[in-house]
Amino acid sequence: MRGRFAPSPTGRLHLGNARSALLGWLNARAAGGEFLLRIEDLDAARCREGYVDDLFRDLSYLGLTWDGTPVRQSQRSEAYAQALASLERAGRVYPCFCTRAEIARAASAPHGPGDDGPRYPGTCAALAADRARARPAALRFRAPAGVTFAFDDALKGPVAQDVAAEVGDFVVRRNDGVASYQLAVVVDDAASGITDVLRADDLLASTPRQLALYQALGLTPPRYAHVPLLLGEDGKRLAKREGASAVSELRQAGVAAEKVVGLLARWSGLGDGRPVRADELVESFRLEKVPREPVVVRETELHEQFGPLP
Ligand code: GLU
Repeated sequence: MRGRFAPSPTGRLHLGNARSALLGWLNARAAGGEFLLRIEDLDAARCREGYVDDLFRDLSYLGLTWDGTPVRQSQRSEAYAQALASLERAGRVYPCFCTRAEIARAASAPHGPGDDGPRYPGTCAALAADRARARPAALRFRAPAGVTFAFDDALKGPVAQDVAAEVGDFVVRRNDGVASYQLAVVVDDAASGITDVLRADDLLASTPRQLALYQALGLTPPRYAHVPLLLGEDGKRLAKREGASAVSELRQAGVAAEKVVGLLARWSGLGDGRPVRADELVESFRLEKVPREPVVVRETELHEQFGPLP
């Protein structure tokens, strides 16, 4: 069993990410498995090296150890190029010149799952391969028609989606030449031999697309567990900007890591909020204990747990 945590260094690690990291770590360690760290830094414009440094410090502070050297997606372009070439040889991708605005105008279907915009209407699917446009082409994966991609999520139960009908053909290489999240995550998890993916449920809607890529690339998908998000009092997902929810802020303010882990454990059905070390949670950890509902984080409980912060 091999799990992983795959954060994007586009902001400080907040308590929601930390909870996913803790649960993924516990899931792996409780099974006597390995736990890998991957830095998803493909989006150069949004990623910062300072956040990567903070991330290492935050995870160490929380007692979440990882095995081996962390993989950096920014250094994996060769692996992505090979996967794209194999999809290209198999006729599974085509260049797409559409802008977002064109897709929005052409889309007849309502918005697809998640916040990925409308279903792609297939405008470029039948373009002559040599048709040149001023705009550089993205590469889209041809979602197989009439195929439902299904899996049994450890927390959500059975999930199934006809990707072609609901999402349409999706981007595997952006028009700046960078591999898309969907492609990179599949190539990397497979290359690292990840058997168990535990992540926040905002990515649940991406999983059928990833299964389509596993199939097209002849790779074996992992097991999945999608944990409900932590929400702020306004019912929106806990934002990175919310002060006390940044782990580095708590660390720098001298808050004991056990208090942070204690709160993460309470939100996860694994404790009552009392300070605890991550390794003390391993023995009694069961994924089934994790609540299926989103957890609302109240400002007052942060104050109660951590005291006044500077
Ligand atoms: N990098 C993604 C994120 O930070 C997570 C990717 C994954 O776990 O598949 O939201």
